[in-house]
Amino acid sequence: MPQKTSDTPMMQQYMAIKKDYPDAFLFYRIGDFYELFYDDAIKGAQILELTLTSRSHNATDPIPMCGMPHHAVQNYVDILIEKGYKVAICEQMEDPRLAKGMVKREVIQLITPGTVTDSNVNEAKSNNYLTALTTDDTKLFGFAYTDLSTGELKTSHLDSLEAVINEVVNLQSKEIVVDQSIDERIQDSFKKLNIMVSHQNKIEVKAELSYLTQSLTEKLEKSTVETLLTYITVTQKRSLAHLQKAVAYEPSYYLRMDHYSKYNLELTRSIRSGKKQGTLLWLLDETRTAMGGRLLKQWLDRPLIQKKQIEDRQIKVAELLDHYFERSNLQDELVKVYDLERLAGRVAFGSVNGRDLIQLKTSLRQIPKIQHVLSDLDDKVFGEMLAKLDPVDDIADLIERSIVDEPPISVTEGNVIKDGYNAQLDKYRDAMTNGKKWMAELEASERKATGIRNLKVGYNKVFGYYIEITKTNLGNVPEGRYERKQTLTNAERFITPALKEKESLILEAEDKSTTLEYELFTKIREQIKQVIDRLQKLAKQVATLDVLQSFAVVSENYHFIKPTLTKNHSIDIVGGRHPVVEKVMGRQSYVPNDVKMADNVDILLITGPNMSGKSTYMRQLALTVVLAQMGCFVPAESATLPIFDQIFTRIGAADDLIAGQSTFMVEMQEANRAIQNATPQSLILFDEIGRGTATYDGMALAQAIIEFVHNHVHAKTLFSTHYHELTVLDQTLTKLKNVHVGAVEKDGDLVFLHKMEDGPADKSYGIHVAKLAGMPEELLGRADKILKRLEIKNKDTDQTLVNAEIKSKKVEEPAEDVQEKQNHKTSEVDEQLALFQTEPADPQGEEVLAQIRNSNLMSMTPMDVMNQLYKWQKKLGNK
Ligand code: ADP
Ligand code: MG
Repeated sequence: MPQKTSDTPMMQQYMAIKKDYPDAFLFYRIGDFYELFYDDAIKGAQILELTLTSRSHNATDPIPMCGMPHHAVQNYVDILIEKGYKVAICEQMEDPRLAKGMVKREVIQLITPGTVTDSNVNEAKSNNYLTALTTDDTKLFGFAYTDLSTGELKTSHLDSLEAVINEVVNLQSKEIVVDQSIDERIQDSFKKLNIMVSHQNKIEVKAELSYLTQSLTEKLEKSTVETLLTYITVTQKRSLAHLQKAVAYEPSYYLRMDHYSKYNLELTRSIRSGKKQGTLLWLLDETRTAMGGRLLKQWLDRPLIQKKQIEDRQIKVAELLDHYFERSNLQDELVKVYDLERLAGRVAFGSVNGRDLIQLKTSLRQIPKIQHVLSDLDDKVFGEMLAKLDPVDDIADLIERSIVDEPPISVTEGNVIKDGYNAQLDKYRDAMTNGKKWMAELEASERKATGIRNLKVGYNKVFGYYIEITKTNLGNVPEGRYERKQTLTNAERFITPALKEKESLILEAEDKSTTLEYELFTKIREQIKQVIDRLQKLAKQVATLDVLQSFAVVSENYHFIKPTLTKNHSIDIVGGRHPVVEKVMGRQSYVPNDVKMADNVDILLITGPNMSGKSTYMRQLALTVVLAQMGCFVPAESATLPIFDQIFTRIGAADDLIAGQSTFMVEMQEANRAIQNATPQSLILFDEIGRGTATYDGMALAQAIIEFVHNHVHAKTLFSTHYHELTVLDQTLTKLKNVHVGAVEKDGDLVFLHKMEDGPADKSYGIHVAKLAGMPEELLGRADKILKRLEIKNKDTDQTLVNAEIKSKKVEEPAEDVQEKQNHKTSEVDEQLALFQTEPADPQGEEVLAQIRNSNLMSMTPMDVMNQLYKWQKKLGNK
């Protein structure tokens, strides 16, 4: 009976290895190929668009298989990682020609979305964070994260799952490592966010990594970092010498914003595209290095709350802003600095090549030039930084001496090490050159001896050196002069004993020199490994400098000014702008606005027509605060701000059109979070809260929320609303101030001034918006009529909650009012009847009319009205 395919020693080895990696694609190396088998092959062939074949297809149990050449593997790995899978790379651990029996194979690395380092998946200007979570009986969560490509390692303890999710989403982590203390429910909440959950129970961390956790005092933090380190060690199986000592941080050391708020403010990702374009980061990024780009993003994610730290950055920005030439020189020098952090990482992993080292050298050689620029600036401002910059000369010199200026990609095939660096290598090289010279001389002398002018000495991998003579000249070769070796169509190839002797000398020298070169290269790499921490410190300095110059450039380009940070609780911004909207629409078209909130004003109630700029105004303030606390200048003529501890941004569900998925429930949950967590030092933006439900409901909630914030929370709050009925609240709430967006009606058209003015708006402008949208005159006229009637009706019956409440405090209405009310009622019925009769007998029209008559306009948002008008227009036949 024939042996089953699955019983062959190779497939048994495969199964034994695969068993340890059930959740990963196993890339099994066979010769020059990586092969996938069974389900991996079926699924892999589909995702990677590879041809699905089978191993031993004539056997009774053909095994599904697909594969790719080893040199093309990176692309395939990238695709799988990007799609959220893991890939286990299984290599041949011995030379198949020398192996006795089965070639030994081992998984040398498990690549996962959170651990991938060398690929196109990692963008230069963003980090790829792997996070970890554990918990203990204290109910606190231990949280840790690292970027394997840069070696950054941080930890914290957080008091709620919400806080954890916030951190994970903020860091844009694609993978979180959990241990057995994290239950299914929690794991599910990550999976729902498309974050890979990997399981790892802590084991004893290797001695050489124990220093990483030395400075941690919290048991839970330490244990979480150890879990993370265990996972990295188990999956990476390579040197982690570049990991930096774990640093504990507190989210409350920074201006806190939950991920929902960041999302709404479009700090780093645009709501529409999820990309950088159109965000604050996009505007701010004038960094010249990858490290600077990443640090900028980190600063943006965590603005400061310490006055001194903020002012320290401000002073440096001011100095750079004042020195145009130095700043532009600095930029020119920074551009030539490569990604020191990731280079250091690759040194540790052992994956650097000659070109990387040249990049490292070039970067280090920039440091003295940067120092030179800094020395031209005020010593009091940049003196300390200047002193801290370490050009790591010793390493730059080492690379200078040892590595050729344009090395090949491969480090195992020679031509990497400079002449004169190693005496032995020079000897081998001499032998090679001499040998080659000898060959050249041989060619010349043999041509002379035989008279064959096109006689050639050549080389190929299979036959080595040979003498080649074309067929036409064969007759001229003296008998017995050469030994025949190979016949081609047009030529014969020959050898001689002397040629073969020289050949073996050359080949031996070549072989030895490439081996020696690789050895030397490895030694140089090990030497650089010893200074990884110096390189990382340098990288931080350079990144900081880069971000500061970026702030200065942005401040100059967009006319930002230095904000004053005040200890009291007042905001005074003159001529403030939304920097991104301004950039997009152009400085000329943007209307600047003031924000004035004295110590005794907590709430600005913002009313104004749709599309008039309410949301922009609110976001403008939040962005100004974020910029100020990052240490950047701000878009305004002048600005005085307190330091905020948190920002909450809630967009009313109905207004959250772009996200499209917001429900009223979410809106309320988010609002609740703000109300529960805000302090008097916080900033709250409530944009059209309450809009996602029926009018009275929504208005009642909006009012109650305003009152609650006013009476209990005391945070600085901007509240925009289309319920202009709420504006009377300033009569009862002393810390509330009305502002509105100015709009003028010109010949029946509405012109938005985008200008904030004190006091309430006088009405909503739904119909005007419908007009702007191009609806037919007839329809608009009709809507106007209906509205007028409803307004009259409303005024009389006094249905608005606010008015009802305020009125109830006033004296009873005089009797004639009641009489008038009844008059209105009758005239209204009359008019309706009249209208009804004059309409032509048109069933569609009838139906629309009935709907208009029955619709409760007051429970509709302007958007609803527009939608409804649109439907009616459709029904009536769009003319
Ligand atoms: P609202 O929230 O009142 O409906 P938005 O804040 O969404 O209005 O603004 C609507 C549009 O008006 C924006 O997309 C922008 O193009 C424009 N806009 C807003 N504020 C300004 C301003 N200060 N100057 C110029 N245009 C503005
Ligand atoms: Mg809005």
